[in-house]
Amino acid sequence: SHRIMLGPLVAAIDQGTSSTRFLVFNSKTAELLSHHQVEIKQSFPKEGWVEEDPKEILQSVYECIERTCEKLTQLNIDISNIKAIGVTNQRETTLVWDKETGEPLYNAIVWLDLRTQSTVERLINKTPGRNKNHLKHKTGLPISTYFSAVKLRWLMDNVDKVHEAVVSHRAMFGTVDSWLIWCLTGGKSGGVHCTDVTNASRTMLFNIHTMDWDPELCKYFGIPMEILPRVRSSSEIYGLMKICSSRKSGALSGIPISGCLGDQSAALVGQMCFKDGQAKNTYGTGCFLLRNTGAKPVMSDHGLLTTVAYKLGRDKPACYALEGSVAIAGAVVRWLQDNLGIIGSSEELEKLAASVGTSYGCYFVPAFSGLYAPYWEPSARGIICGLTQFTNKSHLAFAALEAVCFQTREILDAMNQDSGIPLTQLQVDGGMTSNRLLMQLQADILCIPVVKPSMPETTALGAAMAAGAAEGVSVWSLNPEDLSEVTSEKFEPQINPEESEFRYARWKKAVEKSMNWET
Ligand code: ADP
Repeated sequence: SHRIMLGPLVAAIDQGTSSTRFLVFNSKTAELLSHHQVEIKQSFPKEGWVEEDPKEILQSVYECIERTCEKLTQLNIDISNIKAIGVTNQRETTLVWDKETGEPLYNAIVWLDLRTQSTVERLINKTPGRNKNHLKHKTGLPISTYFSAVKLRWLMDNVDKVHEAVVSHRAMFGTVDSWLIWCLTGGKSGGVHCTDVTNASRTMLFNIHTMDWDPELCKYFGIPMEILPRVRSSSEIYGLMKICSSRKSGALSGIPISGCLGDQSAALVGQMCFKDGQAKNTYGTGCFLLRNTGAKPVMSDHGLLTTVAYKLGRDKPACYALEGSVAIAGAVVRWLQDNLGIIGSSEELEKLAASVGTSYGCYFVPAFSGLYAPYWEPSARGIICGLTQFTNKSHLAFAALEAVCFQTREILDAMNQDSGIPLTQLQVDGGMTSNRLLMQLQADILCIPVVKPSMPETTALGAAMAAGAAEGVSVWSLNPEDLSEVTSEKFEPQINPEESEFRYARWKKAVEKSMNWET
């Protein structure tokens, strides 16, 4: 009977910084039917460097697909009901591969990576008035280590194999979406080399007004345009899954890949923020607050990025967003676990912090990768201050959670100043939102309610919606009236605003120190 109730199914590949997931949704109800998740190894070969293995990323996708299909079969759900697949991914992370051998030519350089800091400083020093916003009128972005162009430049300058492949016209550049779509649609035997407008808008090579690669920007960074993927909308058929039949994931061969969105854009769609002014904050490895600004790109005066939110169809208009990006959120949890060993798992953090319920005047600025919005200061470094003899690991755990909340507060303030219309509540999602103490702290520090959907996989849902709504698939409506109501949980502020302001003022002092500790 369950079988009869099911509408067409739509799947999503969610390739994040810390893990890969494959998820299958019922397009009638948006219900999550089954999923599987695999962690991704990160390597830190030198101070400030962050890399991942492109082949491991691809293998993790296959593994997630295969395990999810097994689970569906066990649930007596027919895999042939899957009508489309969407891709969503960690943004900016940069790859180059050889189109003839299909081999990656270096590890993926992860968005958090700082190896390009000196290049970025040199570029900024060369601009009139040492202006990091020199390219902002075209890209919506400041010159920073964060975006792909400088990482790609580094690869061309420092990796012989990349240089040779570029010279001999065998190189392909891509962010993770491009790498996966190329591999999954056939790789060296006919794979489709494409990306979507949201991912393209994070490279610094893309003009967010013309909605295409910009020859001047490519020249500025010395990037040959022939290595770039073709830019498509976020919802259209890019190609068909072509997995060799000897793999169990071969069961999905022939299914269209028809949705592609950078993870933060996908979360905006999955949270149904289709209207001008609607916003969401996602707490993963980093933390990203995006506010839909409609059909017009709005330039920030307060250190936010202007980015493409989505373009849901070839003939549909593009929608833009203002974005506040925080480099380190969940990554600080992993650091407490892997580097300090004070917790055994991310779940333990909540218990440890809750056991004291205060940081006892300790402030922790985790500026491991410099500071992103609203400062864009690559030379900032992490600090812990306000320690006394009394401070223990529980206080440090609490300070780490507070750091995530304070960073969000800084972004929200900037967002409210830019738009002039303060947000009255914050929609949230991402791996860290399972931490209820964090959610309550966030409401307390923002002094507005925090609202969390009961289905936490909004990033994957957004990619699935884009895939299901594509022309030629059309099993999912993106009309807000047709979309099912989301059930959610609300955290109300509980401390008094004066207490909240006092702590926030202290945090700001700590941030000042993280930016000037060397001088
Ligand atoms: P990404 O999309 O960047 O891969 P996710 O949304 O999957 O990230 O979230 C994973 C991050 O959330 C990890 O950095 C992890 O440390 C953190 N995290 C997961 N569960 C908890 C928890 N209960 N408390 C605090 N942090 C958590």
